[in-house]
Amino acid sequence: MKKRGMKMKRILVGLISLSVLATGHEAEAASCKINVSYNKQFYKIDGLPIANKQYGMARSYNPGANKTMLQSYQQMKKAALKKGIVLDVVGTPGAYGYRSYATQKQLYNQYINLYGFSYASKISAKPGTSEHQLGLAMDIRDGTNFGTLNTAFEYTAASKFIHENGQRYGFIVRYLKGKEAITGFMYEPWHIRYVGVTHATRIKKENVTLEEYLGIAGRKKLSVGQYKVNGTLCKYKR
Ligand SMILES: [Zn+2]
Repeated sequence: MKKRGMKMKRILVGLISLSVLATGHEAEAASCKINVSYNKQFYKIDGLPIANKQYGMARSYNPGANKTMLQSYQQMKKAALKKGIVLDVVGTPGAYGYRSYATQKQLYNQYINLYGFSYASKISAKPGTSEHQLGLAMDIRDGTNFGTLNTAFEYTAASKFIHENGQRYGFIVRYLKGKEAITGFMYEPWHIRYVGVTHATRIKKENVTLEEYLGIAGRKKLSVGQYKVNGTLCKYKR
């Protein structure tokens, strides 16, 4: 009897692991597909608006700063202030990081005149490709330190706060150190992008760029033949 019981148990365990595998496989098949859509103004990937060197916006897309982003930013600012940290948004007062196509064009041309095309394109987005035009990005400075935007920002309390807590309010630090080859931009500890709490939490946990997270570029090195889409482990088709 005892022997038979063991055998039954083995069979049961086998069945359970088979069903787990099958469910995992179905989930993988559904979410490993990258859904790109364009509404004649901007691209969305799996429902998330995107602006980068590959996916641009219409010149006429002029949404202003996103209202949900603003509410989340105000909450984050308040939380920081409780710890004596002053977050401040760089740029036109009241614009909260928003830049129109025309403003971006002006800025981009200024950088080209100052530094030449090659360097300018690493620090500034071509008009129509900036997350600032998307209305979902802001450049943050430490309110107690009014220096210009440079990588020394990472040593400020404001930088540490957004890096460690931004995801709780739906923000990610968008252009990470050492990820220049993937994002196409130099390290910008001050540039935050609003993606909502769920996505931001996953992105932060995985320490990846938005491109890697969405599975559209520079796939993070996992085991051979694997990549991630939206936090889900996928396999390359061979
Ligand atoms: Zn920026």
